[in-house]
Amino acid sequence: RPLLLWFRRDLRLDDHPMLTAAVATGRPLIPVFILDPETEALGAAPKWRLGRGLEVFAETLQGLGSRLIFRRGPALDSLRALIAEADAAGVVWSRAYDPASITRDKTVKAGLREGGLLADSHPGHLLHEPWTVETGQGGYYRVYTPFWKAVKDRPLPDAAPAPKALRSPDTWPASDALADWHLGAAMRRGADVVARYSIPGAAEAERRLADFLDGPVDGYGERRNLPAEAATSALSEFLSLGEIGPRRIWHAAFRRMQEGSPGAETFLKELVWREFAWHLLYHSPHIATANWREDWEAFPWRDDNPDAERWRQGMTGEPFVDAAMREMYVTGRMHNRARMIAGSYLTKHLLTHWRVGLRWFEDCLTDWDPASNAMGWQWVAGSGPDAAPYFRIFNPATQAEKFDPDAAYRHRHIAELTRHPGALALDYFRAVPKSWDLAPDRPYPEPLVDLAEGRARALAAYQRRDTAA
Ligand code: FAD
Repeated sequence: RPLLLWFRRDLRLDDHPMLTAAVATGRPLIPVFILDPETEALGAAPKWRLGRGLEVFAETLQGLGSRLIFRRGPALDSLRALIAEADAAGVVWSRAYDPASITRDKTVKAGLREGGLLADSHPGHLLHEPWTVETGQGGYYRVYTPFWKAVKDRPLPDAAPAPKALRSPDTWPASDALADWHLGAAMRRGADVVARYSIPGAAEAERRLADFLDGPVDGYGERRNLPAEAATSALSEFLSLGEIGPRRIWHAAFRRMQEGSPGAETFLKELVWREFAWHLLYHSPHIATANWREDWEAFPWRDDNPDAERWRQGMTGEPFVDAAMREMYVTGRMHNRARMIAGSYLTKHLLTHWRVGLRWFEDCLTDWDPASNAMGWQWVAGSGPDAAPYFRIFNPATQAEKFDPDAAYRHRHIAELTRHPGALALDYFRAVPKSWDLAPDRPYPEPLVDLAEGRARALAAYQRRDTAA
């Protein structure tokens, strides 16, 4: 009897423990992707990017003589229907660690096993399962550095190679057409524009990893904070959809470290920040929507407001912040330094709740990752574990001088600031909705807030909170 391979955010063939185990059973294999309510709920850009990733992955499976079956509906119902149609023995999948997926997967596992069916989950999305990394006292890590020390020398199995072929069933169950799902429908911005900057698929991920380890990794330690440079790996959107596995990246970068690449260890540490984010989300799931530290719930952040709308539009009049917001809108990604500056500006200078920013990122990022996004926002706001202290209020102007000294990043993204704007700056205006009423030939706006005043206001609010706490 065949086995269903339930793919979710693991759209690759190598470094894939579930696939390796499934191939080893010798059974015919039926790869399936389900558009369940949890997936329907994705933000616009992640959903669009998922659709593009699925297209490529379906082709890859066809190249192995297999297929990807598309079904829509609640996961357990869809799987049961498929099992009945294909007379399958059961289902296997790679684990997910966010609260909604955990709830769904528990229901699926219990439901299938109740019916005497096989239902097994496998690792693969992370380097280490979150429950296997424990502090000396037996709890989870709340601080990054000890977490890094705990995992850096841990043995890690090699990444398995991709199978050469997948055994097909005698007959294939029916499949929806992926195009009929219109996964890009919610993209308010020009999807054709963003598509220029986002190439999906495992082959592209491999290429980026190879290119990065071939050169940029050496200078990563010094240059990774410079948003105008292509100094980072740009692997996040592939990691997010599992188009590349973290173990492959770990082993490849580890080898470069042993060969003496000066930046490789810093890069491994960043990869472990992703791991730490998932560790936190798994052990304190409320971090996805609420302040990690409960005493922050009373902090007087503003809900959504017109200033926040200017922030979303990249029209705050603060060039580093606007460049960051426009970069995200037009490319689907934002440099890490820029995420910190844009986030700090929203939560501190504009005293707006981090959730407003988190939601916008969730809608706009092609590399959206529930764990890194939640951790990043709470780090910036000061409410998370191991977060920036409240008095760390990034000044976007001095940050710009330091990390974008020749204004290359700001000019690349803000047409109004240069006489000859480039493609990226102009593409922004092609991507934005008409209702925003933006044009490249209008004057660049005056700053929304005076930086010194904004800083003083934020400090006062943060200090009042400290006194009250
Ligand atoms: P590289 O510098 O090449 O790093 C390699 C990998 O390490 C990344 O692909 C990523 O998986 C991981 N990594 C690097 N920095 C971090 C970090 N600070 N936190 C967690 N993992 C990290 N990252 C996402 O993948 N998705 C998100 O939704 C996301 N939201 C964020 C929101 C905020 C407010 C902040 C401050 C950070 C957020 N990050 C998020 C983390 C980080 O900005 C990105 O992972 C990074 O910019 C991706 O670029 P890269 O692949 O070139 O990274």
